[in-house]
Amino acid sequence: MTLEWAFVALGSNIGDRNASLELARERLAALPGTTLAAASAIEETEPLGPVPQGTYLNQMALLHTELAPRELLDACLRIEMEAGRERRERWGPRVLDLDIVRYGDREVREPGLTIPHPELPNRPFWLRELAELESYVE
Ligand code: ADP
Ligand code: MG
Repeated sequence: MTLEWAFVALGSNIGDRNASLELARERLAALPGTTLAAASAIEETEPLGPVPQGTYLNQMALLHTELAPRELLDACLRIEMEAGRERRERWGPRVLDLDIVRYGDREVREPGLTIPHPELPNRPFWLRELAELESYVE
């Protein structure tokens, strides 16, 4: 069993956004074989893409985990559902979005799972948050 460092991006722009991020941190920390090593500052950002919607709160979590990438993705999707995520409209508003941004040095290209996350170079706030957490990775 190997432990890997995984960066998971949290985002919310409907409902009690802070509460959704808090729920996500709690649930991620409670996953089997997983610790929440650190979390970045929360940053408010303008929505991306064509759909008019409210601003987002974003935060990056650093996990130390035994879960495989696909297991971590499934856990993230379950936590999104628990938080009340309903619509799956692309780029649309969401109560909670959990994206695996990086998983160790792994490159994953499977149906439904791409790591590193392809939007990473286009999202300055993710890059800032990664930089903030880099020092925690041993
Ligand atoms: P987005 O985050 O792109 O706005 P969704 O949150 O609705 O859209 O995710 C749609 C799908 O993206 C998920 O069901 C998942 O299978 C897929 N996906 C591919 N790569 C990743 C990743 N690195 N992290 C999270 N989801 C991913
Ligand atoms: Mg997502």
